[in-house]
Amino acid sequence: MKKMRCLICGMIINEKNYDRNSSSFIDKNTDNKIIRCPFCGVTEEYLSDDESYIDLDKRDLDDKTRKILDIGMKLEMFNSEFYAEASKQTNNMELKKMFQDLSNVEMMHARVHKNFGGFEQLPILRKMDYTKHNTDELLFIEANKREKHAVEFYERYYNQVPEAYKNIFRALADVEKEHITITQGD
Ligand SMILES: [Zn+2]
Repeated sequence: MKKMRCLICGMIINEKNYDRNSSSFIDKNTDNKIIRCPFCGVTEEYLSDDESYIDLDKRDLDDKTRKILDIGMKLEMFNSEFYAEASKQTNNMELKKMFQDLSNVEMMHARVHKNFGGFEQLPILRKMDYTKHNTDELLFIEANKREKHAVEFYERYYNQVPEAYKNIFRALADVEKEHITITQGD
C-alpha cells in the first residue's frame, strides 16, 4: 500500500492504520483503496501521495480567525468528550465502537484547529453531566443535535475565515454531515 498524507490533519496513512475509526464511516477504506482519512475523516480529495504537508501562511491568522478557530476547537472537544461518555454509557457493543470512533475523529478535528490556530495546547473543559442521556435513543438524539450544530458552525463562519482556511472548514463540515447521517438512528 502506498503511503499517503492527510492534508487536513497531517497524519500519514499506511497499511497499519487505514481501518481506524471505521465505524464512523459509511463507505470504508480497504487495504487497496483509501477513500477517507482514518484519523479526521476527510474525503480523498484532501489526501496526497506526496508526503508534504500544507503550510498555511500564518499572516492570514488574524485575531478574528484565531477566535473562530478557538470556538471550533472547543466545540469539537466537547463533542469528542460527549462521544467518549456515550461509548461508556451504552451496553450495545457496536454502538460502543461507533461512539468511540466518533470521539476519536472529533478529537482530531480539535487538534486541526489547534494546529492551524497556532494554539499551544488543547483547553481543559469544564466537566459536563451526560447522565440524562440514559438510553441509546437519547444518546442518538443528542449526538445528532451536536453534529447539526457543528455543521452550522462551519457554515456560519465559512465566509469569515481567510481563503486558505475555507478548505479546512469545507472538509470538516463534510465529515460532520456524514456524522449527521449515521446518528439519525432508525
Ligand atoms: Zn486527516
